[in-house]
Amino acid sequence: AVQIKSLSKWYGTFQALKNVNLTIARGEKLVICGPSGSGKSTLIRTINALESFQEGQILVDGIELTRKPEAVEAVRKRVGMVFQQFNLFPHLTVLENCMLALRLVRGVSQKVAEERALHYLGKVRIPDQAHKYASQLSGGQQQRVAIARALSMQPDIMLFDEPTSALDPEMVKEVLDTMTQLAGEGMTMAVVTHEMGFARQVADRVVFMDRGEIVEQGTPSEFFSNPKELRARTFLSQIL
Ligand code: ATP
Ligand code: MG
Repeated sequence: AVQIKSLSKWYGTFQALKNVNLTIARGEKLVICGPSGSGKSTLIRTINALESFQEGQILVDGIELTRKPEAVEAVRKRVGMVFQQFNLFPHLTVLENCMLALRLVRGVSQKVAEERALHYLGKVRIPDQAHKYASQLSGGQQQRVAIARALSMQPDIMLFDEPTSALDPEMVKEVLDTMTQLAGEGMTMAVVTHEMGFARQVADRVVFMDRGEIVEQGTPSEFFSNPKELRARTFLSQIL
């Protein structure tokens, strides 16, 4: 579903991604980990055209991501994104948050947008909160709304950037459970996370980044039980 070829990105003179090659197959669940500043967010933001890049190629469902607005739009249509900060509009209801992009970006009718938003709020198990303001929900509930909002756009692939890092510990599980359920339904997923329990349970493949490079990748059991690179071993010893 996603092909990344020889991708390099600079912020000014600082190179944040160095010749990254990565394919995410349809239905695959990828976990991306690595130390702070290694380029994880940059990588997944680049896939969604939230960051530009200077060298290499990104294809999403065969569509090449260029700077052309049509290409950006076609790619964003296929890619849903969930951030560490939920980025909900606090003064809108949960339902309105989920309907907003459907109405404004997709031009879907009020009725269809509402039906679809309610469907996905049901999937993340908070249909009963639909008419509350987003600001009235717990962090875990807000993150599940953010997932429902992304799903309402019916993407082919979902990208998550540390979706549980801003949550109180007791709310981490409900969000991971929602993501595990989504994985079970066959969604293609790339997840930046340090939740290694989730990685072991759900990931088909773990990618380890350091200093803008993919240093190592493998199945969770390969990666966790027998990391080859010193940098990966050091990283794992710090987080496990
Ligand atoms: P973390 O685990 O802390 O979220 P990360 O792996 O997601 O880290 P990135 O946010 O992708 O790392 O950042 C990679 C590098 O690029 C870092 O050195 C960071 O300082 C730099 N960087 C990120 N965003 C920008 C920006 N907008 N302008 C300049 N440098 C940036
Ligand atoms: Mg990050």
